[in-house]
Amino acid sequence: MNVLIIYAHPYPASLNAALKDRAVSVLQDAGHMVKVSDLYAMKFKAVLDQNDFLKPCNRDYFSVPGEQMAGVRNGTLAPDIQAEMHKVKWADLLIFQFPIWWSSTPAILKGWIDRVLAQGFAVNLAEGKLYQEGLLSGKKALISTTAGSPPEFYSEGGPHGDINHHLMSLWHNTIEFCGMEVVPTFYVFNVGVMDDLQVNAELERYEEYLRLL
Ligand SMILES: Cc1cc2nc3c(=O)[nH]c(=O)nc-3n(C[C@H](O)[C@H](O)[C@H](O)COP(=O)(O)OP(=O)(O)OC[C@H]3O[C@@H](n4cnc5c(N)ncnc54)[C@H](O)[C@@H]3O)c2cc1C
Repeated sequence: MNVLIIYAHPYPASLNAALKDRAVSVLQDAGHMVKVSDLYAMKFKAVLDQNDFLKPCNRDYFSVPGEQMAGVRNGTLAPDIQAEMHKVKWADLLIFQFPIWWSSTPAILKGWIDRVLAQGFAVNLAEGKLYQEGLLSGKKALISTTAGSPPEFYSEGGPHGDINHHLMSLWHNTIEFCGMEVVPTFYVFNVGVMDDLQVNAELERYEEYLRLL
């Protein structure tokens, strides 16, 4: 299996980095091919704008979906977008590794989604290619994320509400929208108060999860 880890954390010694590194070693040991898009290390451009389109198809009016469709069709998207698209095409499994920030993803990961999962590449609304018909169907995706809050804060009826509702725009309206199958999310809660033993236990739990996957 080909695995692409889209990793969004600014610090190489973070817990998220440790989870990413553990995934790389476990998956490679199991014989899988792994690539990592380390968005901060790559200084990945997080904002979609007109510079993403090297040869705009309409110079009178900037329509993002229209430019994305033309850019995909003509191979005229910015090189960093095209490089990520090649990796996505190559991958059977995408792993999104990130900390929960404001009950969502870090902005750099949102930018990756905006720019890489482009119209004409991941979905085609004009042709109804979305959800089961999405252009990335046949691929799987795993969300692996960490939260400062304890799990009861993010439960149904808890102060924050069910975390699956917060991440629905990622697992349903993005991943499933593009046709990919979502596997159960791997959560680590309460990360601010963990000691080394607990961190190691969570890394072991992730390793076991990936082996069963
Ligand atoms: C902008 C912002 C918004 C946020 N919003 C939310 C929110 O809405 N909801 C919420 O719940 N939380 C929120 N948080 C908290 C955030 O989710 C956590 O800070 C994040 O999940 C921690 O992940 P990390 O990789 O940065 O952990 P780190 O801070 O790197 O690590 C966590 C702990 O594990 C230890 N550790 C890390 N790696 C190892 C290792 N290899 N071995 C042993 N120990 C290790 C560290 O020393 C530390 O004690 C927010 C934080 C920020 C900055």
